[in-house]
Amino acid sequence: MAQKVRVRYAPSPTGYQHIGGIRTALFDYFFAKASGGDFILRIEDTDQTRSFEGALEDIYDTFEWLGIDYDEGPKKDGPYAPYIQSQRVDIYKKYAKELVDKGHAYYCYCDSERLEKVRKEKEQNKEQQGYDRKCRDLSKEEEEDLKKKNPNPVIRLKVPLDGSTVFEDIIFGRIDFDNKTLQDFVLLKSDGFPTYHLASVVDDHLMEITHVLRGQEWLPSAANHMLLFKAFNWTPPVYCHLPLIMGEDGQKLSKRHGATQVIEFKNQGYLPEALINFVILLGWSFNDKDEVFSVEQLKKIFTIDKINKSPAAFNYSKLKWFNGLYIRNMDNEKLLNLIIPYYKQKSMISENVTEDEIQILRKIVPLIKERIEILADAPQISFFMFGELPEYKNWDMIIPKNVEKKTVINILNDAKEILYNLGSQKDEDLQHQLYELTAKHGVKAGAVFMPIRIALTGTNKSPDLFPVMNALGRDKVMFRLEKAVEKLKN
Ligand code: GLU
Ligand code: ZN
Repeated sequence: MAQKVRVRYAPSPTGYQHIGGIRTALFDYFFAKASGGDFILRIEDTDQTRSFEGALEDIYDTFEWLGIDYDEGPKKDGPYAPYIQSQRVDIYKKYAKELVDKGHAYYCYCDSERLEKVRKEKEQNKEQQGYDRKCRDLSKEEEEDLKKKNPNPVIRLKVPLDGSTVFEDIIFGRIDFDNKTLQDFVLLKSDGFPTYHLASVVDDHLMEITHVLRGQEWLPSAANHMLLFKAFNWTPPVYCHLPLIMGEDGQKLSKRHGATQVIEFKNQGYLPEALINFVILLGWSFNDKDEVFSVEQLKKIFTIDKINKSPAAFNYSKLKWFNGLYIRNMDNEKLLNLIIPYYKQKSMISENVTEDEIQILRKIVPLIKERIEILADAPQISFFMFGELPEYKNWDMIIPKNVEKKTVINILNDAKEILYNLGSQKDEDLQHQLYELTAKHGVKAGAVFMPIRIALTGTNKSPDLFPVMNALGRDKVMFRLEKAVEKLKN
């Protein structure tokens, strides 16, 4: 029987979760689910200098918002707990010492001043940068001596001086590192904390990780990891480095291109299911025609053999398109609940939403559903639903070109008479009667409908007129037409 798939997402809490991170998490998650395996969340927080207040909470919030459930991890535990590396420091210490005992690693007593001096010398002599391996072959006496001066040495790996380090990456194929280019990198720092390399390898082994999926930027680290697996005499997992994510200009995706943090997308009103659908296509495709996939589908169909190695382009308008699609397919009551915060932000409704406000929002939902791509756009296209009169953003457009003010007043008065039957006569009949005003007043259709639209919504770009009028209700329609006529007369 094949080994059960176990994958891990191993973020370092050094900043807010970003697109690259959740791309890895989602690939991990769907790969695990589709192959009947386990998905593990592991927090790699051993670099205390880079830890960032709030980053850990952001990881948990992101998972909750995306609706991704890990099988093992912090807050949940599992057979390999703890899943937070800062709580596993003794384990790494033990393994680092084991490598020293076996002759695969050594204590390095050099202080930062010496390392800096070495760096400068190498720079001057145009030599390859890096540690000069001074402490690699110390005699017992030399070591005793140095220990007195520096009781807290680091531990470095003894990297083979020649030969090469090779591994097979699922995506990038055979990768070959010349050992001469590699450093005797640090495993355990002087504060007793492990480096990322040591902690990551020890945990991938102890937690029985079968596949490591992570961004292409980690490919160079894989050399260090292979050397460590070899030194420990452990079997390495399968490596699967995921293609870079680029902006549409071909540059590495960054702030310059737009939002990159999950929290920003969330705040702007992207739906998790839309973001997931979009992100899963950053480096993976099912075939060359289907692109809309639900979470439930992805849990069945995601395979790593369909990951490609060419960089993925992040197309913001495509993401918006996905979001609009998921909004249109959403249940109205659910959408209602999701838009509430955006109306609060604009102080259009109270902090403790009243029943009346809910009623208004319930009427708004069908009006905006077909028109918005992100939730944050909802308030600005429905502001006219609040208050007695709308804010007349385009008042000057109430008098169309080549039409006299007097005619507009007459049209609005006629419209009032027709629309008095709003709700008691069919919309099509009323619409037909409004059309007849074009002949009566000798104007084009726009000269009938635009003044009505401005009078009712204050803007020339509102959702469709009849749904708007029905949402406002007859009384408000009458009142606003009346007020517009008064305003025109003054
Ligand atoms: N802690 C690393 C990060 O911040 C994980 C890299 C890996 O998956 O090995 O992304
Ligand atoms: Zn040294």
